[in-house]
Amino acid sequence: MAYDFDLFVIGAGSGGVRAARFAAGFGAKVAVAESRYLGGTCVNVGCVPKKLLVYGAHVADELEQAAGYGWSLEEGHFDWGTLIANKNREIERLNGIYRNLLVNSGVTLVQGHARLTGANEVEVEGQRYSARHILIATGGWPQVPDIPGKELAITSNEAFYLKSLPRRVLVVGGGYIAVEFAGIFQGLGAATSLLYRGDLFLRGFDGSVRTHLKEELEKRGLDLQFNADIQRIDKLEDGSLKATLKDGRQLQADCVFYATGRRPMLDNLGLENTGVELDERGYIRVDEQYQTTAPSILAIGDVIGRVQLTPVALAEGMAVARRLFKPEQYRPVDYQNIPTAVFSQPPIGTVGLTEEQALAAGHKVQVFESRFRAMKLTLTDIQEKTLMKLVVDADTDKVLGCHMVGPDAGEIIQGLGIALKAGATKQQFDETIGVHPTAAEEFVTLRTASR
Ligand code: FAD
Ligand code: NDP
Repeated sequence: MAYDFDLFVIGAGSGGVRAARFAAGFGAKVAVAESRYLGGTCVNVGCVPKKLLVYGAHVADELEQAAGYGWSLEEGHFDWGTLIANKNREIERLNGIYRNLLVNSGVTLVQGHARLTGANEVEVEGQRYSARHILIATGGWPQVPDIPGKELAITSNEAFYLKSLPRRVLVVGGGYIAVEFAGIFQGLGAATSLLYRGDLFLRGFDGSVRTHLKEELEKRGLDLQFNADIQRIDKLEDGSLKATLKDGRQLQADCVFYATGRRPMLDNLGLENTGVELDERGYIRVDEQYQTTAPSILAIGDVIGRVQLTPVALAEGMAVARRLFKPEQYRPVDYQNIPTAVFSQPPIGTVGLTEEQALAAGHKVQVFESRFRAMKLTLTDIQEKTLMKLVVDADTDKVLGCHMVGPDAGEIIQGLGIALKAGATKQQFDETIGVHPTAAEEFVTLRTASR
């Protein structure tokens, strides 16, 4: 049977654009449907605008440090409107770049919401398209618990377009987004509280990292409230919000920001017209090669709920393009040792096993840990400490995990990710000459095991 396209991609986000461009480059006839924004979550309401706001908040640190270096500055003034307008301009520029990338690779761009009408058929704005393969790359969407007053809360989607910086913010959640946005709001001057339902935020991260970040955030004056969960939100007469906690306490704020995880974006996708099944968590079930339970339909990225990071969606998109149209170049995605950063203030960088995971996996573990005040702070009154930690297998000397909390952690951890992928041993770390004077050199000079 002749199809309109070899590949029809639903969603022009990180994974979809990568798969579409490479598939077209391999000679396939490709279309992409996008209902909202080119570049998807990462470019529009995720990684990119988030990092720009983090940079904005970080300027406050630089200003605080300036006096120690002899700079006297007039009292600074921050304007939220300018930051958001400049950010929006940059995002529009990136949208244009994504459009050109697709069009120049020969991909047909279809604007509108796509709905599956069969195993080889998609409908967009009343028009039907047939395809030999269909790729679902529809991403995720913020999930807010069903509490009275939830409509008064915002999520990351809305935070990027707030008209003004709220004076008082309650951030709910203890994952990446909650920690990053708490740092943004507080850094830009809002009185910020972070409410997390458990004993300590960032579940799944290394224990030393979680405790260290907690201490550093508290030093900065962020109000951290653990074992705290909101039961209901009410609007007061003056327009502000009142959050009633499950323990009966009441907190007042101008903005309640929820970052309590993301669900797969499956709204009106028409899965019922196909044989595509969901897994027990509600994400699209795929096999090792991203094939769903309907053989002509594949899925990648946040919608399969494996690792919700842009570089992972990119790698999955690439794998699908190769598997379908350049099988001789196909290589499976390696989900081991994925480096990642949390752009908190200070940021976290991490790759490999946490101490807890290494122990649970049965390794005899040696831990090398260092806490120090970064050189840049020595001329200032700031007492922030950097944490660096290596988790090593005592039997094989292999480095199992590298963890850091401190300036530039994301930049530093990328290189260590290569070392771990190459299977580096602690001895090879020790034999690597440091770059002096940097904080990063500490990773190659950790001589004495802490435990
Ligand atoms: P998406 O990028 O979400 O793209 C899906 C696209 O599909 C969207 O454009 C959507 O409009 C479209 N779509 C959905 N349904 C339909 C339909 N039926 N028809 C047509 N189009 C449809 N990751 C990092 O690695 N680093 C970070 O710093 C980082 N920061 C983040 C910050 C925030 C606030 C958030 C929310 C996420 C962040 N992420 C980060 C995660 C990252 O954004 C996602 O993992 C990544 O975007 C997933 O890519 P994707 O291709 O699966 O989906
Ligand atoms: P996460 O899954 O990271 O964290 C969700 C948080 O919300 C957890 O602390 C969780 O608690 C808590 N939570 C979940 N449900 C409830 C509830 N009903 N009531 C109260 N608290 C609740 O999700 P995020 O939204 O922070 O981010 C989504 C994903 O996007 C991340 O996991 C990450 O993959 C990606 N991302 C990556 C970034 C980066 O690379 N820098 C930045 C931002 C996002 P508990 O732990 O107890 O379950």
